[in-house]
Amino acid sequence: MPGAIDLHTHSSVSDGTETPGQLIRAAVASGLGTIAITDHDSTAGWHEAFTAATGTGLTVIPGMELSTNYGPASVHMLAYLFNPADATIITETARIRDGRLHRAERIVEKIARDYDLTWDDVLAQSIDGGTLGRPHIADALVAKGFVANRSAAFESILHWQGGYYEKYYAPSPLEGVRMIVAAGGVPVLAHPATHGRYRVIEERAVKELVDEGLFGLEIHHRDNTEDGKERLFELAAKFGLVVTGSSDYHGLGKPNRLAENTTSPEALEAIVAAGTGYTPFHG
Ligand code: AMP
Ligand code: FE
Ligand code: FE
Ligand code: ZN
Repeated sequence: MPGAIDLHTHSSVSDGTETPGQLIRAAVASGLGTIAITDHDSTAGWHEAFTAATGTGLTVIPGMELSTNYGPASVHMLAYLFNPADATIITETARIRDGRLHRAERIVEKIARDYDLTWDDVLAQSIDGGTLGRPHIADALVAKGFVANRSAAFESILHWQGGYYEKYYAPSPLEGVRMIVAAGGVPVLAHPATHGRYRVIEERAVKELVDEGLFGLEIHHRDNTEDGKERLFELAAKFGLVVTGSSDYHGLGKPNRLAENTTSPEALEAIVAAGTGYTPFHG
């Protein structure tokens, strides 16, 4: 789809397998018009993405996928066009990344009781200063021949009920929305219906987030169930939320392909108009 808009992608700054530059070249090759780079809890890929997009005609929306914890559940929140130099953004994302690092160490310690896996094996799969996650442990398990690929690792050893799982520090969704809005950004709940209609975040919790500036819901995403999407459309209509769609591309790390789901030009326009912490980069 020429000129398509894909607002959720990952690079090797977090758990994508391509550098930000490679991600941008893949976006250009696939004919995208606009891409958001949304690494987990990091803005470290923005500049390389802008540089790679220069002269290509591609528009880059700088973004991030913020980790939040809602009780026992991990809730991902996309953030667009916020000021990356905002003090709270810097300290909170550093705290989350640090928490993820120690959590990954704890997971590896547990796995190492049963498998020949070392911390160095995991570090070898990630870049210095990147946001570490289970995908990097998965890649180490693949490299050691214990599983066939990332998905197989997530279905077995790395499954949250697989016996090795550990949680990590993250702010609440409410704190997340406040922090993004205070930095001039636009918060959109990422894939909020991966567990179906009846496990979508409750209406009064959504209302609380909306009251603090939640702007949209990522409804067109392969992990949202069909009945979950119906529920999300009801919530979007009720609270006047913008609807987005995206691939959640991770390079070779996931089957998700660029532009497999897309966002309308009208929704993008609304997001760009609302974001005051940074401007889109027109390459
Ligand atoms: P973590 O944030 O460390 O708990 O790991 C979760 C991340 O792993 C998510 O951001 C996904 O992108 C990725 N992930 C989850 N399930 C899979 C899967 N089946 N295959 C590949 N990556 C996955
Ligand atoms: Fe990811
Ligand atoms: Fe996510
Ligand atoms: Zn993602």
